[in-house]
Amino acid sequence: MAQITLQHVKKSFGKADVLKDINLEIQDGSFTILLGPSGCGKSTLLRILAGLEEESAGHIYMDTKEITYNEPKDRDVAMVFQNYALYPHMTVYQNIEYGLKIKKIPKDERKRMVADVLEMVELTDHAQKRPNKLSGGQRQRVALARAIVKRPGAFFMDEPLSNLDAKLRNHMRQELIELQQQLQTTFLYVTHDQVEAMSMGTHIIILNQGKVMQQGTPKEIYTNPENLFVAQFIGSPAVNIIEQGDYSIGIRPEKMQLITPFDTAAGDYQLEGELLSTEQLGGETIYRVKTAYGKLHVKTPSQWEAVDNKIKLSFKKEDVFFFDNDGERTAPDYTLLKDLREEPQLHFA
Ligand code: ADP
Ligand code: MG
Repeated sequence: MAQITLQHVKKSFGKADVLKDINLEIQDGSFTILLGPSGCGKSTLLRILAGLEEESAGHIYMDTKEITYNEPKDRDVAMVFQNYALYPHMTVYQNIEYGLKIKKIPKDERKRMVADVLEMVELTDHAQKRPNKLSGGQRQRVALARAIVKRPGAFFMDEPLSNLDAKLRNHMRQELIELQQQLQTTFLYVTHDQVEAMSMGTHIIILNQGKVMQQGTPKEIYTNPENLFVAQFIGSPAVNIIEQGDYSIGIRPEKMQLITPFDTAAGDYQLEGELLSTEQLGGETIYRVKTAYGKLHVKTPSQWEAVDNKIKLSFKKEDVFFFDNDGERTAPDYTLLKDLREEPQLHFA
């Protein structure tokens, strides 16, 4: 169990400033996701926390203890890698036991500890197999078991599911969520996949170009993005952006309403459009609509009826995000929307 604190952490490789003054608190017992596009510095940050890479400046604490200068083995963390890093010549049992042997834990105790984690990751029946006899998902579970058996204060995982196919990845996400709830230990999990971040994390840290863009719960990040980058990075289809001079406004596709003869309830603003395409996803329907303000997405619960080519969209005041020309969230300025008629005027043949 551990809270991790970073103060003014910086990292440069030669002239490249890869991490720029990172200040963070990762809560004890949280499932925290470090999310950001490829190359933004996620792995570098995780490696610095694990002691595998040296920071250029700054301080790192685990609870109240400073660990900035500790060796990896003295940091009470376990790292789970994407490529599993299992020993091929050892059985599943031996792979998990190895770290305990190094720590000189007596044999009887080792036996009990390994049996416990094997059960936890549901690999008891595979204990005597070599890694090459296992599926990708089973290997990933061995890698997890090897980390769990050390009983670390925190688990660090760097895109651990990216080598698995989509179905297995979904399954392992569920397993990791349940495992974290069982262990009640801090998980710090790196991914570039916003769906993974939203579905797994209790907390999300969004990184871009070596800077923290926002930190919060999935709900806070989704419903209250602090800047244009976060608004656009989270959500699928991406938030609709309408440029209005020096400002831009954002409306999530599911906050856009399609006004049809079947559903005439309108929001505060309206705009007319032409339907470009309809995508049926089973549980929901996505429309792409050409408007005077660009091509916008609308997401509704599944709607199987064909929609007229000429359509009207509407949205509510409170669902609009306003951003200034630096991309920072600003107070609402509804005069920017004055061109969008406020009074619903519906004309259906
Ligand atoms: P992410 O994990 O978010 O994809 P990384 O932390 O791996 O990003 O890398 C961030 C940046 O630092 C990239 O531009 C990468 O090329 C650079 N970088 C990472 N490691 C090194 C290194 N050992 N030497 C030089 N540049 C590096
Ligand atoms: Mg990486």
